[in-house]
Amino acid sequence: MKCQDMERYITLFINDELSGIRMREFIEHIEGCNSCFDEMETNYLLKEALLRLEKEGSYDLHGALMDKIRNTKKCVEVHEMITMMRRVILICAGIALLFELVFVYAFYL
Ligand SMILES: [Zn+2]
Repeated sequence: MKCQDMERYITLFINDELSGIRMREFIEHIEGCNSCFDEMETNYLLKEALLRLEKEGSYDLHGALMDKIRNTKKCVEVHEMITMMRRVILICAGIALLFELVFVYAFYL
């Protein structure tokens, strides 16, 4: 295998399409030739990086962002509900106190 042929074989190797004698020759060449190894490494890392970005990176980032927005909205809703319940309880307590005062004044004084 010559260096000129390697570009094609590097693509085949990275795509798991290399087998048999060609695979063995490829590995032998890669292990003995620094420039072809570097070429293969660059191609491999680039492909993996793009795959991860497509599969996990962008999806996860988007999903995480949407989760964050959802959770924040839930927190805001719960907080508003607690604030509203507190007001209702305060109003009820105020009404109860008023009734008690009216009752006390009306019947005991
Ligand atoms: Zn080479």
